[in-house]
Amino acid sequence: MKALPTAKPTAAALTIAIDGPAAAGKGTLAKRLAVHYALPYLDTGLLYRAVGRRAAEAGIDLDDPQAAGAVARALEPSALDDGSLRGREAGELASRIAVHPPVRAALVAFQRGFAARPEGAVLDGRDIGTVICPHAQVKFFVTASPEVRARRRTDELAAKGRDVDYETILAEVRERDRRDAGRAEAPLKAAPDAHLLDTSEMDIETAFRAACDLVDRVLAERGGA
Ligand code: C5P
Repeated sequence: MKALPTAKPTAAALTIAIDGPAAAGKGTLAKRLAVHYALPYLDTGLLYRAVGRRAAEAGIDLDDPQAAGAVARALEPSALDDGSLRGREAGELASRIAVHPPVRAALVAFQRGFAARPEGAVLDGRDIGTVICPHAQVKFFVTASPEVRARRRTDELAAKGRDVDYETILAEVRERDRRDAGRAEAPLKAAPDAHLLDTSEMDIETAFRAACDLVDRVLAERGGA
C-alpha cells in the first residue's frame, strides 16, 4: 500500500497513539479524541481487515506470508470504505494475516504518512505506540479483562439483532489476544511511555475525560515550553 502524499508536520502537530486488545473501547475513545481535538483519525485495524478479506476472496493461503504480503502491497486506500470490514469474520481474517512480516511492512508507510499530517492525527491499533509512531506526543494503552470485553461485544451484537453466545465470543476474544500478543513481529504490547487506561470498571465517558486530562496536560506543557 502506497503512502499518501503529505506535507511536513508542523511544530504544533499532535499525534495520539492508541493501542489495546479487541473490544477494549479504543476505537470509541480514538474517535471521540479525534473529534474533540479536531484531528484526522485512522483505524489501522481496517487495513489488516481489508488485506484479510482480499486474500480470502482471492483464495490465497492465509498462512503464506509472501502471498499475503503481495495483497497488502496492492491495497488501495479506497478498500477501507467497505462497512462490512468491521464484522467478526473480517477481524478473524485480519488477525491471521497480521502475523506476517511482509504484510506489516507493506502497511507501515501508509500509516506513518497518515500520522505525519501537518495538524497531527489519532491512530489506533496494536503497534501504534511501539512501531508506527514511537514518537507520538501522547500514547494510551486501553485494556479491559477478556470477560468484560466479551460481554460488551456480545451485548453490542445482540443489540444489532444477531444471535450470539457469550462463551463463543469469549473464546474468540481469547484467541485473538493470544495471536496478537504472541506473534513475533510487532506484538500487541504497551509502549513503555504509554498511559494505561483499564476500562474494565470505567465507562467510556470516564475514560474519555481521563484521556483528555492527559492530552491537555501535554498541550499545556508544550505551550509553556
Ligand atoms: O482493531 P481491529 O480489531 O480492527 O484489528 C483487527 C486485527 O488486525 C487485530 O486483531 C490484529 O491482529 C490486527 N491489527 C494489527 N495491528 C494493528 C491493527 C490491527 O496487527 N495496528
